[in-house]
Amino acid sequence: MTPSIVIKNISEIATPTSGVKRGTELSELSVAHGISIYIKDGLIRAIGNYNTLKDSINGNPQVIDGKGKTVIPGFVDSHTHLVFAGTRENEFGKRIRGATYREIADSGGGIKKTVEDTRNASKDELVENASVYLDKALQNGTTTMEVKTGYGLDLETELKMLDVIDELNKIQPVELIPTFLGAHAVPANISKSDYVTEVLEMLPSIAGRAKYCDVFCEEGYFSVEDSRKILEKAKEFGMKSRIHVNQFTDNGGVKLGVDTGACSVDHLEVVSDEDIKLLSNSKTAATLLPGVSFFLNYGYPPARKIIDSGCITVIATDFNPGSCMCISMQMVMSIACTQMHMTPEESLNASTVNAAHSLELENVGSLEPGMQADLLIMDVPNYQVIPYFFGTNHVETVIKKGQIAWTRN
Ligand SMILES: [Zn+2]
Repeated sequence: MTPSIVIKNISEIATPTSGVKRGTELSELSVAHGISIYIKDGLIRAIGNYNTLKDSINGNPQVIDGKGKTVIPGFVDSHTHLVFAGTRENEFGKRIRGATYREIADSGGGIKKTVEDTRNASKDELVENASVYLDKALQNGTTTMEVKTGYGLDLETELKMLDVIDELNKIQPVELIPTFLGAHAVPANISKSDYVTEVLEMLPSIAGRAKYCDVFCEEGYFSVEDSRKILEKAKEFGMKSRIHVNQFTDNGGVKLGVDTGACSVDHLEVVSDEDIKLLSNSKTAATLLPGVSFFLNYGYPPARKIIDSGCITVIATDFNPGSCMCISMQMVMSIACTQMHMTPEESLNASTVNAAHSLELENVGSLEPGMQADLLIMDVPNYQVIPYFFGTNHVETVIKKGQIAWTRN
């Protein structure tokens, strides 16, 4: 039996209500003061005034004082490339001195460099590397994370990456959701069309190992037609899709996502009004990655238009060694607010309940009785401080599945 916990007299609880949020709903939060939360057997059992809640408490729970603290749901980071070997800080300097993302890729850097390092790394080395990053993600409040493959680009290494994700799920508390991204880039010494065939041939071995299939649908990478072939085949093997689209060019990726019933289309830095309209009438989420625009110093997605049109809006880190070396959802919230004009309430909903919805997880993302107890005790008096006081970690304690997974004290 797991221990029970009571967080008593919390200065502020700020949570989305359950269910996906569109348009003005994205700015709605349920905020309460001076109340308590009772957690038992991995679930939130009761939220309310301590005097009424205490009757439902069994045994001797651990009591945590919530005075001066804010409790929010654990962050759901729905787009990451957590598993990789090597880092690319040398490219960072080159880029600052003027080289473009594409020039770096063409000179043997970029994704291809990480693919080489990841192919050469053992499973144990990859587990060790990812554990270091995952530990930082947990400390910064991420309790659920989507993780993509895509640094193998051959069946053997793609499967090795899935093994790494499985192993990480066993040895640490952050819940990881695997996505197959075989079509991340075209490896050296093979034509694109031959590689698309290879990816299609990988799918039977991937089936049952990855929940989702992703494709980097972008000019110079995989066309809409290549992507459609892969996503439709993946669907036959039980994988729904979430795809990289419209990062550098408006190439029809959004329509492809909506047509194929993708759970999410991610990036959208370059997106037309027609595509936004299409998305707003669909169940496909629009996942925005503010850290990428910040890190690469290029344009941001038009978040206001996307939200105000009624799209299901999500924000995520896109943690990866090339285009976003940031694993903190608090930082991503802050960038979303200051650079994309999202409000603090919208940024919190977009990183919790909507992100969970895009991953088809209905038991996390909000704080209500019956939900899985994934929550954060933040060392701030109210939720608005989280994106406002940026660049620092406000998490004091992380509770995952009803257990203390990390605490600063
Ligand atoms: Zn990505």
